[in-house]
Amino acid sequence: MTAPTSAPNAVDETKLAKIKALIAEKGALLADGATGTNLFPMGLASGWPPEEWNETQPDKIRKLHQGFVDAGSDIILTNSFGGNRHRLKLHHFQGNVAKWNILAVQLAREVAQSAKDREVLVAGSIGPTGELFVPMGKMTHDEAVDSFREQAEALKEGGVDLLWIETMSSPEEIAAAAEACASTGLPFTITASFDSAGRTMMGMPPEGLGELAEKLTEDLGQKPFAIGSNCGVGASDLLVAILALTKAYPDAIVIAKANCGIPEIKGDKVVYTGTPDLMGKYMHMALDAGASIVGGCCGTSPDHLVAMRKALDSYVPSDRPSLDQITEEIGFLMSPPRDEADIAKNRRGGRGRRGRS
Ligand SMILES: [Zn+2]
Repeated sequence: MTAPTSAPNAVDETKLAKIKALIAEKGALLADGATGTNLFPMGLASGWPPEEWNETQPDKIRKLHQGFVDAGSDIILTNSFGGNRHRLKLHHFQGNVAKWNILAVQLAREVAQSAKDREVLVAGSIGPTGELFVPMGKMTHDEAVDSFREQAEALKEGGVDLLWIETMSSPEEIAAAAEACASTGLPFTITASFDSAGRTMMGMPPEGLGELAEKLTEDLGQKPFAIGSNCGVGASDLLVAILALTKAYPDAIVIAKANCGIPEIKGDKVVYTGTPDLMGKYMHMALDAGASIVGGCCGTSPDHLVAMRKALDSYVPSDRPSLDQITEEIGFLMSPPRDEADIAKNRRGGRGRRGRS
């Protein structure tokens, strides 16, 4: 079979070269931290779409980005994670997709450009629709592509450097988002959340994401520029997923964007246990595991990113981390792979996982 290489899917080589050159120059890139958990203290109500703030509270969104840029991020993500018509429809905001995504890019771009000493890339965040696909739910492939394309085109119009598909669980949804992103000609990345016994909620293991990325490359005529994992449960779980991915796909450019330590329920809030020091250790482990774009997800503040920047700048390569090292330095696995032997090893803090990672 020949991969289709139709012109509309041809990637913008200039944009792609710019990102690759930055990685080559720096060795690895620091992405940014959380959006939601940093906006809640600024007054964002739980459940309210943060994208609305691109229009009504632009200073707070600038402040969010500024914190990350000041901490040393090389890539910042636009405040557009839930900016698709399905998510926005929950608040009857589905008519604002284009407007809010374009604003999201403009705000991030203003802040990125204020970093005079270096290049800061703006990545257009694209999260899930929140809908289940047929046959489990109602969402069809075509509807999903249509929805993602509306968002991706707005992010392109706003002027992103690349598109960033994140927090995905379902292979069907990844395929739809990737098709939409590829149609814009922008470089794009895909990260999934392996939060259910080492797999996504829909049962896809990290190796499955690598396989899917290869299939999409054939189908779409454009290779996802990078793949990886973000969010989910704890930072330890994410590192284990990264090890699995880089073992199976050693040549892939891999993204690690972990939650800040371990999520704990305190009253009606979820708090993250990670200290800046811990996130610095996580940075070294993510790099040793083979990631070349590393950031934080929920719970990660600019303070954590300062420590991660320092860790990245002082990085001395070491061996791939073992499960023992991960659990000792970062914490226990929140949702260990369901393989019984693995669970027992994790409980005992014993050794032996290295063989799989
Ligand atoms: Zn997160």
